[in-house]
Amino acid sequence: MKIPSVKGFHDVLPGESARWSQLESTARAVFDRYNFGEIRLPIVERADLFRRSVGETSDIVEKEMYAFTDRDGTDLTLRPEGTASAVRSYVEHAMQASEPVTKMYYFGPMFRRERPQKGRLRQFSQIGAEVFGRDDPAIDAEVLLLLDDLLHAFGVESGEIGVNTLGCVECRPGFRAALVAWGESRREELCADCQRRLQQNPLRLLDCKQKQCVALRPEAPKMTDHTCAACREHFDRVLELCAVEGVELVLQPYMVRGLDYYCRTAFEVVAQGLGSQNAVGGGGRYDGLVRSLGGPAVAGIGFALGVERLALVLEAQGAEVDKAKPEFFVAPLGAAAEAAAFSLTHRFRAGGARVEMDSGGKSLKSQMRRAGKLDAPYVIILGEDEVAEGVMTVRDMRARADRRGVAPLDADLATLRAALASAASVEERA
Ligand SMILES: [Zn+2]
Ligand SMILES: [Zn+2]
Repeated sequence: MKIPSVKGFHDVLPGESARWSQLESTARAVFDRYNFGEIRLPIVERADLFRRSVGETSDIVEKEMYAFTDRDGTDLTLRPEGTASAVRSYVEHAMQASEPVTKMYYFGPMFRRERPQKGRLRQFSQIGAEVFGRDDPAIDAEVLLLLDDLLHAFGVESGEIGVNTLGCVECRPGFRAALVAWGESRREELCADCQRRLQQNPLRLLDCKQKQCVALRPEAPKMTDHTCAACREHFDRVLELCAVEGVELVLQPYMVRGLDYYCRTAFEVVAQGLGSQNAVGGGGRYDGLVRSLGGPAVAGIGFALGVERLALVLEAQGAEVDKAKPEFFVAPLGAAAEAAAFSLTHRFRAGGARVEMDSGGKSLKSQMRRAGKLDAPYVIILGEDEVAEGVMTVRDMRARADRRGVAPLDADLATLRAALASAASVEERA
């Protein structure tokens, strides 16, 4: 009986994972330039971590966490996002003591039990970044510049960064009250979820996807009309710094993000190629979070990008992936040749070449077909004659030429590469 994978949990096959590796190595290079260090966080955390940070009334905590009770009675969960884990780690290791400004990035899977659809899986992978210890607008702008750099480095052409301010403990309550008052005045027209959440979590009115709620939105109060002077000044400075550096941002007065812990600058990245799920990622400032999780009063800001979604966007765009291919395909003919091919392959791999070898007495034709499929530029053909004479014949697939006895059978990798290069240049001159 076949055992299928779990709904919403996908394999990333070798063909696809090439794009993933490329995204990750590109991200590493960009994070490096911004002086970020990588943190590797555990996948399982205490469920309370997310109840206290993401928020009891968020969709994530209300209905999407993979929470379970461990055998010793501890309430655990597969992490639904990375920021709370990063904060937990920051507090646990008292990082502020050794490093007043801490910049970290991470890669890894997150888990949310949502309804699976294109670009939305129950296990999804994120590239995330967090900065602790700075609350000035320049760091918000630096994070937005980093995000913009990442999108360009990945080759995302349709990427757009939307920004908003979510205010602070001073000005958010006033906005919240205005939102509740407005929501109450329109209660009958709101969806059932919004009616229920209106008093508890009115900000959710602004990112509800139900048609009737979307239709009402243009008349809802905007945070930007309720910000205190300090929040206004902070936000204006962020926008100004980004504008000076030529980073385009789109003001989105109704963007609130789905998580409770954000304040002040919040942002979201959208791109084409994802259908209705057009958000590639987002983030924002979370100044109260470190403290609320038992740490010092240290400010924080961060973001996460969805790897599956980035991959879909790039695929829709037709962006090329550097597909790894063997430099040499070794095609032996006969038992004696197979033994020679086996140790030649081992020797070249040890020398650093990517090599594939066939065995099992396949015909030259079938081995050439596989070499062609793998797009190997060179096929080392070892027949009885080659073994008897102690040489190798190499077919140069690009030049469509056979180099008979181009190198001794026991040649090392450098010798063979040099012989092939010189054979090709002789041919060019001729
Ligand atoms: Zn404020
Ligand atoms: Zn609604």
